Amino acid sequence: MAKTETPAENAQLKDIISHAKEYGFVYPSSEIYDGLQAVYDYGAYGVELKNNLKRLWWETMTRVQDNIVGIDAAIFMHPTTWKASGHVDSFNDPMIDNKDSKKRYRADVLVEEHAAVIERAGDLERAKSLTAALARMLEAEDLDGVRDLITNEGIKCPISGTSNWTDVRQFNLMFSTQVGSVAEDSSTIYLRPETAQGIFVNFLNIQKTARMKVPFGIAQIGKAFRNEIVARQFIFRMREFEQMEMQFFIRPGTEMDWYKYWSETRMKWHLALGTPPEKLRKHDHEKLAHYANAAMDIEFDFPFGFKEVEGIHSRTDFDLKSHQEFSKKKQQYFDPEINQNYIPYVVETSIGADRLFLLTLCNAYTVEETEEKSRTFLKLHPAVAPVKAAILPIVKKDGLPEKAQEIVQALKYDFNIIYEDSGSIGKRYTRQDLIGTPFCIAVDHQTLEDNMVTIRHRDTTEQERVPISELHGRITEATSFRRIFEKL
Ligand code: ATP
Repeated sequence: MAKTETPAENAQLKDIISHAKEYGFVYPSSEIYDGLQAVYDYGAYGVELKNNLKRLWWETMTRVQDNIVGIDAAIFMHPTTWKASGHVDSFNDPMIDNKDSKKRYRADVLVEEHAAVIERAGDLERAKSLTAALARMLEAEDLDGVRDLITNEGIKCPISGTSNWTDVRQFNLMFSTQVGSVAEDSSTIYLRPETAQGIFVNFLNIQKTARMKVPFGIAQIGKAFRNEIVARQFIFRMREFEQMEMQFFIRPGTEMDWYKYWSETRMKWHLALGTPPEKLRKHDHEKLAHYANAAMDIEFDFPFGFKEVEGIHSRTDFDLKSHQEFSKKKQQYFDPEINQNYIPYVVETSIGADRLFLLTLCNAYTVEETEEKSRTFLKLHPAVAPVKAAILPIVKKDGLPEKAQEIVQALKYDFNIIYEDSGSIGKRYTRQDLIGTPFCIAVDHQTLEDNMVTIRHRDTTEQERVPISELHGRITEATSFRRIFEKL
């Protein structure tokens, strides 16, 4: 059977999922009712980590770059938007059911996973020719061909173990709902499957009101919804998720230069955040989406293999041109430098906040084995860690809690701080390790005399004595986004 995960990799993902649940990062949605498949909630530390990642992306786009501004468009949009964008007609995935297990699969994923197994077994040529055949068939919408490929390759359902497959059919991934209180007057609208269209339909509003000149970008963070056929691998593939997208509007003919620029810039961003280079790779698309003339993914080596975390697409003028046709409103820009009107071309960068979150957790999750014990901690970049410092009086008496509270007061408006005075100091360090707090600050009797505290560093467990007056500066230095921005 085609399978991309080895048992050890599976175990690693399982550990990460249970860590995320146990220590307040991610829970299944509506868990008391046994959850809702592929929908998750973020807990106390999860929301902080996710917000930090989103803020880092937002500031990278809107501050480090000086020609990008933001937008926050609504989830609901006029239904014609999705006709114009091509989603009503072609936002489909090919699905196939196994008649014995009644389980549904994405037909293309079945073939890709099978090819990955062949590749790992050493037959690179055969794996390549299989994925090329798949790409050709999808391009030609030859669904019978895809089914034949699955049967001829002897791909089996992992549940039933049989090759008793239905035909392959297209399945539209958009969720729809009704708007309007009177049944007869109500009309069907969609929950947006991508945030990008909110940017396209506002292109002229933003360009005019923020007085932007091509080339310029519009960035957005927001929820998107897809009725994914197979939703598994935790928060990797969800039905409700968040996207961080940036559409960069450019002069026609310059798209390949900008495509290269954004592919490199986004890769640098991942490296600056601390992802090891060997865990990242580029993947050029063989089958291009209906709107693209070049596309690549940045893939990360998740415990279940290299998978897309971010897409960079050269979308031509497809979207603006189509909105111009459907709305009958001109979507042109007057370029004063060349004295011409044109519909700009677009290069977009699109990353899922939840996938970035999962990447971050996978990178950070560390189990350190020494002869005496094993220590689990999250080696998060301090700039995105949910809690920056924990202030810990070593005993709950003798004025130490009061002294520690003074430190909390001095830091809490600038950093997310935890105060904790119960349990042994060792146990309190462990708790902070598990949520990835970079600094534990212990207040002891000596502190009352010399205003010095002990900082314990998460990654090395080394301790050093520093004056209280230095704490603010040190935490700022370690947690500031500036350190990441300077590497871009
Ligand atoms: P995939 O091939 O994995 O389905 P995609 O190519 O459809 O992804 P895009 O439409 O390019 O994805 O969306 C941009 C980004 O949005 C992806 O790189 C991913 O990070 C995120 N994303 C897409 N679908 C989901 C999902 N169901 N759950 C979580 N994140 C998603």
